[in-house]
Amino acid sequence: MLGPIANKEYVLKYLNIYDTHALKKYGQNFLIDDELAENIIKNVKDGEDTILLEIGPGLGALTYHLVKKNGHKVLVEIDPLMCDHLKHQVQEDDVEIVNMDFLRMNLKKYDKEIVVVGNLPYYITTDIIEKLLRSTNVTQMTLMVQKEAYERLTAPINSKEYSPISIFLEYVGGTKLLTKVSRHSYIPEPHVDSLVFQVNVKKEKQIENENEFFKITKAMFLMRRKTILNNLTSYLKDKQKAETILNELNCSLTARPEQLDLDFYLNLTKKIAL
Ligand code: SAM
Repeated sequence: MLGPIANKEYVLKYLNIYDTHALKKYGQNFLIDDELAENIIKNVKDGEDTILLEIGPGLGALTYHLVKKNGHKVLVEIDPLMCDHLKHQVQEDDVEIVNMDFLRMNLKKYDKEIVVVGNLPYYITTDIIEKLLRSTNVTQMTLMVQKEAYERLTAPINSKEYSPISIFLEYVGGTKLLTKVSRHSYIPEPHVDSLVFQVNVKKEKQIENENEFFKITKAMFLMRRKTILNNLTSYLKDKQKAETILNELNCSLTARPEQLDLDFYLNLTKKIAL
């Protein structure tokens, strides 16, 4: 790949050559701080037997450093123009450029461990993270997101924003904040600052059927203003059974979903699904 990419001149030059601009519909905010890009990628683990998957490489700000790492690189980008650009720029071997919506990508087809990197498009941050958390072969994620999104994702119990994703993130081992990023580090400049965080997915499974755990936890938050009893009743279609289970779990029938912790949702899954 030619020269560092995360800088203002490079981004403006190529947007100009392609007679385009950053597309809002794809959440395009290009990183223009190459030192930051390099530092982010330094924290990413690699290895011969690893797939390094980048979501939304854009013009290649992070990619420029990522392609130097060990492992098979897969770059998934929805914008065909960005894909063409990358095909011309990337000279390294072992790089696959895939033009598609990441949310439609089948990660199961990779039978190796997947390490994920991305400056995520803000309009689907939560969907992307949920998909990653539900994929059994993802072992590490290093993600750049808007500060508000991170606060929502990691909201503590008893707060308004506490959600199934906060619970899933805790389940896989929690998040580690790597660095804060000023809004001035992007073109165009977003209204809010961002940050980079990492998730190192725990190896030990706390529950046999993780899919059921994700499904049941999500179902318990479908009506978040209602009690856990209401939500469980509508999931089981049996109020008596819902009451019995909650009593067995020593859970108040009037508790709300955001008042219950990870252990509760794990134990609830074990009661219902196993
Ligand atoms: N990585 C580049 C950087 O740091 O400068 C671009 C980051 S920009 C915030 C998000 C990127 O994700 C854009 O290139 C956008 O086209 C791409 N994108 C948006 N939606 C996507 C999707 N559903 N699947 C894959 N890529 C997507």
